[in-house]
Amino acid sequence: MSRVVTFHYTLRDPAGRVLDSSAGGDPITYLEGAGQIIDGLDQRLRATEAGVRARVEVPAAQAYGERDPAQVQRVKRAVLPVEGELKVGDMFQAGAERFAPTVTVAGLEGDEVLLDANHPLAGVDLTFDVEIVAARPANAEELRHGHAHGGDGSGHCH
Ligand code: ZN
Repeated sequence: MSRVVTFHYTLRDPAGRVLDSSAGGDPITYLEGAGQIIDGLDQRLRATEAGVRARVEVPAAQAYGERDPAQVQRVKRAVLPVEGELKVGDMFQAGAERFAPTVTVAGLEGDEVLLDANHPLAGVDLTFDVEIVAARPANAEELRHGHAHGGDGSGHCH
């Protein structure tokens, strides 16, 4: 039986830097096993109940994957849909379509640019400090939709 789980989290990299946090904002709500959060975290929170605090360490392979060197490509600066100066670390969407991948400028060499299409967190082992706010059985509509609805699950989505 899949559950709908609501939690707060703070995400850190291996150096202890905070990468992301829900603190001060709304907690995250997800349907178990539906791919709404990274798989390694989903798996580790299966047995938790409301009120539980847990530190969950997720290796890169179970988070955003290992870095793939083949995802780094060299392109001419002139073909990029970006105006103005580029610098290492800049990120933009590689294409106009809605789900175009986000790429990061990994290097600048003359009139060429090295673009890295790896997820920014690829290859990074992640540590989540999690507090479970609520957990309840998913309802039939949520299971049909493949995602969690807010609150007690009776609300409409979309
Ligand atoms: Zn829905």
